[in-house]
Amino acid sequence: MKRKLPPTLSKATQAIHAGQLDRPVYGEVSVPIFQTSTFAFPSAEAGAARFSGEEPGYIYTRMGNPTVHALEESLAALENGSAALATATGMAAITTLFLSLLSHQDHLVASDCLYGPTEVVIESELPRFGMAATLVDTSNLSAIEPALRPNTRLIYIETPTNPTMKITDIRGAAAIAHRHGALLAVDNTFCSPYLQRPLEQGADVVVHSLTKYLNGHSDVLGGMIVVKNEELYRRLKRVLTLFGATMDPHQAWLILRGMRTLPLRMEKAQENALKLAEFLSRHPKVTWVRHPGLPTHPQHDLAKAQMDGFGAMLCFGVQKGLEGGRILLNQVRLITMAVSLGGVESLIEHPASMTHAAIPREKRERAGILDELVRLSVGCEDFSDLRADLDQALNKIP
Ligand code: PLP
Repeated sequence: MKRKLPPTLSKATQAIHAGQLDRPVYGEVSVPIFQTSTFAFPSAEAGAARFSGEEPGYIYTRMGNPTVHALEESLAALENGSAALATATGMAAITTLFLSLLSHQDHLVASDCLYGPTEVVIESELPRFGMAATLVDTSNLSAIEPALRPNTRLIYIETPTNPTMKITDIRGAAAIAHRHGALLAVDNTFCSPYLQRPLEQGADVVVHSLTKYLNGHSDVLGGMIVVKNEELYRRLKRVLTLFGATMDPHQAWLILRGMRTLPLRMEKAQENALKLAEFLSRHPKVTWVRHPGLPTHPQHDLAKAQMDGFGAMLCFGVQKGLEGGRILLNQVRLITMAVSLGGVESLIEHPASMTHAAIPREKRERAGILDELVRLSVGCEDFSDLRADLDQALNKIP
């Protein structure tokens, strides 16, 4: 029988125990990989009853699969939502969200600093379907209301933002959205539900790139949409199933395995990140550091109020701008020069020439993505090794 976990269990315990099969087959402890595209019906009547929804049961993996469902249940529990939908990638979760909740002539308000491809979808692809968007600095709540229009259906935010680490007040943004009959969606990739649960703070939808902290090992892609409202779930599920950006069972199994150590990884990585942020703040080759855990972060108090920890992402400026950044990236030996984030290994990248290069320079700079900005995803290595690597690489900047 399915073990229903008490919702009062801590998130650390839920990460280990949530996401089990409805009906274990042999008492297995690890969820099996149901690597099947389709499911046999015991009778013609049962097949018809599954299609009509009168009887539960699996039909076809694009419409549902036990391994994928275990992962969905796990995310729903961790986010304190009622249901979740697994997608092929994080971008599949984001585009499914937009294509489900927006129609021709609808309007969307979003943060002016987002994961690059999300911004490109909003600015270049959605207009082809007759959807318009206004991007504003949502970390300043008073900028949101003037951007709303009578046809605004959705406010979409990332908090902290990628890569500038600005924080949006989730409760405040949800109140504004709801006053105007719109929904609030939050990309919670940077925090994971271990550190931040937007649905508890009034958001209607959460999206994730599971590729990052939730999986945590830089070896698989995946996405998730989590909601707390049944009607919303049905709309999203319909579009996801029809458009087909669903998850494969093997992918789901790998992510379920990664999630078992989410709390341990997050604790170690965020401890390293705060210590590195403090070290970098004192380094002569560093011009500024932005991490929510530093008292110098302009929204440090808001971060304390809405997050259960400050996370393991940070960005900083280096002396000599673009050239300084190039030297630093080429000189690190332990830290890997790569995009993506949230793995056990530390990754360093240069947003202006990599993840956010598709955004025009002037817009990028307005959003705070300066040429001198370097983004660091801090992993679980020993802190002194990370500090030594950054120190030797920074000292190569003349
Ligand atoms: N959202 C954020 C904040 C991201 O950083 C990323 C990827 O880096 C995505 C979404 C997209 O995720 P994926 O690469 O799994 O499609």
